Amino acid sequence: MPTDTLFAKIARREVPAQIVYQDEVVTAFHDINPVAPTHILIIPNKVIPTMNDATDDDAALLGRLMLTAQKIAKQVGIAEGGYRLVVNCNPDGGQSVYHLHVHLLGGRKMTWPPG
Ligand code: 5GP
Repeated sequence: MPTDTLFAKIARREVPAQIVYQDEVVTAFHDINPVAPTHILIIPNKVIPTMNDATDDDAALLGRLMLTAQKIAKQVGIAEGGYRLVVNCNPDGGQSVYHLHVHLLGGRKMTWPPG
């Protein structure tokens, strides 16, 4: 497992980002290249490269990522209208940063299926 990533540097505030929430377990910040009016990334502070690398020991952490996204969605006012949570995994899933993250996307009508 890598011990350091771009997103770990953001969580440690070594790389600038618009952080909207942080605690001892997770960090949430605005995506640098938003694809929706709201596009926030929620990451575990510890490095888990992909969804494939999560283990049963990470069950609570994975729940925390989802619940943090839910709380932020309420805070930014997109919960009632709706939103999409996305986890891309590996090249076919469209993953580009190998530090597990949940995309919180909202503020516009989403289409299905995704590209
Ligand atoms: P992925 O493609 O891995 O699911 O998503 C990675 C996301 O990270 C992309 O939406 C991309 O725009 C975002 N991203 C890449 N580099 C940076 C950065 O330096 N800062 C921020 N805030 N977002 C980034």
